[in-house]
Amino acid sequence: MNVPLLDLQPQAALFRSEILQSMGEVIDSTRYILGSRVTQLEEAVADYCSVSSAVGVSSGTDALIVSLMSLGIGAGDLVLTTPYTFFATIGSIIRVGAMPVFADVDPHSLNIDSNRMKEVLEDDAQGERRIKAIIPVHLYGQCADMAKILPLAEEYGIPIIEDAAQAIGAECPVPDSDGTVQWHRAGSMGIAGCFSFFPSKNLGCMGDGGMVTSDDGDFADTLRCYRNHGARPKYYHAHIGGNFRLDPIQAAVLNIKLPHLADWHKQRRKNAVLYADLFHHAGLIDNPVILPTAVYEAEAKGTEHDFHVFNQFVIRVPEPDNRRDALRTFLQKNEIGCEVYYPLCLHQQECIAAHGYGYLSFPVAEQAAADSLALPIYPELNREQQEYVVETIARFYTS
Ligand SMILES: *Cc1c(COP(=O)(O)O)cnc(C)c1O
Repeated sequence: MNVPLLDLQPQAALFRSEILQSMGEVIDSTRYILGSRVTQLEEAVADYCSVSSAVGVSSGTDALIVSLMSLGIGAGDLVLTTPYTFFATIGSIIRVGAMPVFADVDPHSLNIDSNRMKEVLEDDAQGERRIKAIIPVHLYGQCADMAKILPLAEEYGIPIIEDAAQAIGAECPVPDSDGTVQWHRAGSMGIAGCFSFFPSKNLGCMGDGGMVTSDDGDFADTLRCYRNHGARPKYYHAHIGGNFRLDPIQAAVLNIKLPHLADWHKQRRKNAVLYADLFHHAGLIDNPVILPTAVYEAEAKGTEHDFHVFNQFVIRVPEPDNRRDALRTFLQKNEIGCEVYYPLCLHQQECIAAHGYGYLSFPVAEQAAADSLALPIYPELNREQQEYVVETIARFYTS
């Protein structure tokens, strides 16, 4: 049986004629930059994320870059983030001239650890106060611990840019001033929420695309200005921005797909719960396979809130003899797609290590890089395929 890590074919087939129709309308309109389809998507995404504004941009990476630029972050500044994320999170920091500073991750969620964050912020506050933004990443589709991160950011007076590239629709509980828990959507908690519509994200287009959400109308205005070379009015440049505009052909695709996102999330969460059952019956849980903790919350909470939207379903196989790579090869030989997100932490990357980061150590993130493995979780995955994945893993451990 062939089980790809991700299969985009079912959605491509389902929407093919609708998308062709809408793309045809864009072609006939001859309006190829921004325009009504982009505006329509911006309004729908703002609504979906419960914020007042959304600004369509060219990618998730550019969403981060334009947000950092709009906050005036540049040379000499530091941005606090996680060492365990896709490279774009820090690539964008460095491209605006700033440098990242890392806090290790939490061993359960693999999101930034708020206790470690507090130590870094306290250090900075004792010194030059160079940290000008915090970028928590909602890794794999699960929100970072915003209940702790929001008050910390407030205490130190530092704005938050959420890297929500993997987490559109994810929610997290945050107690308000009288202690009642409110559920907040990814992208609605910081000054900016950055989304990616890269094809492998939960809401993917047919090329590159991204979005920045904000509940601050003035900030959204600044984002729009930077998205278009910092010009306002046209040909008068108050700032140096860039060409970060979302393509209307991609917006046409996304307008068609967005209404289905809630169903796809439901299906991904169902698949996660089924994996938990199957691993349990196979006697693999805890040793050798550790499941993402959020899977149990998904089970208990049903579908009331999309706590975790499972862009990735990442198991851990923490053995002394590091058989993760052997397991990966075994699954691939058995036609099961799987991947390591991510095999190297950011402080260890060649282009970063050279900047004096190479001697740093973030043991929790480094452990995750050694023992994490993402399994297929896409919405159209069927029960037989999931059974085959778990059977094959069981076979690996008994052979
Ligand atoms: C995908 C991703 C990005 C970048 O998005 P692109 O649209 O590919 O530029 C940034 N951060 C994280 C965490 C991502 O997963």
